[in-house]
Amino acid sequence: MAWYPNAKKMELQPESDAQPAIRPTQLIFHSIAAPWTPERTYEYWRDSTNLESHFAVGFDGDIAQFIGTETRADSNMYANKRGDGSGAVSVETASNMDHSDAWTDAQVSTLIQLGVWTHQKHGVPLRICRSHDDPGFGVHRMFSQWSDGGTECPGDARTDQFRDVIFPGIVRAAGGTADQSPKYAPFPGASYFESEPRSALITAMGRRLVAEGCGRYSDGPGPQWTDSDRRSYAAWQRKRGFSGGDADGWPGRVTWDALRVPQV
Ligand SMILES: [Zn+2]
Repeated sequence: MAWYPNAKKMELQPESDAQPAIRPTQLIFHSIAAPWTPERTYEYWRDSTNLESHFAVGFDGDIAQFIGTETRADSNMYANKRGDGSGAVSVETASNMDHSDAWTDAQVSTLIQLGVWTHQKHGVPLRICRSHDDPGFGVHRMFSQWSDGGTECPGDARTDQFRDVIFPGIVRAAGGTADQSPKYAPFPGASYFESEPRSALITAMGRRLVAEGCGRYSDGPGPQWTDSDRRSYAAWQRKRGFSGGDADGWPGRVTWDALRVPQV
């Protein structure tokens, strides 16, 4: 259980005791599509739904916390708690009814401070999430896995503020620099693999397949594309839920993006 010292503690039961533990690796920002104070948000969740977030922030920047950040909250669909025990911390924010307004200056300030705390307390890295399960910071609409098939939340204006003001503000206030860890290699196209390439990219791909438990190499992985790469990649496709001709070992864009091969 971790409670943010700057938030008003309004523990939400039975969720706070009943939900499973998580290891927080992400902070996801939301708009609640209602002009509510944190107290009103608390009452709504207490009385009418079991869909809650860890925090709520009012228009004047006041913040309350309902659930400890090492306990699952339910605002982020598949990011709430993943198979490896990691999960997202969620913060709802007051907005107009169709969440088209910008965050107020007071909200921006509170969200930056909360971001610094989650970085310092839980080690959330100073970067914008690059995939749905990548540790870092994000807004709800960034990945469909974070909602029931997609959402506009928190709206265009706030998505811009997140990238231009809030995330850079967190980095600055944390006294850090944005995480420069390697970006992932873009999908090189299906025909690239059929040409049986020899490239450091194939080695990097193979290492990721091994890390995912999909290695089917007797030796390697190495830079030359071989049938072992194809068998390993087929195992990855099956792990991602594909079958038949969709798991033939020839890489496609969806499984490639999910594999997160470091750029070489
Ligand atoms: Zn949302």
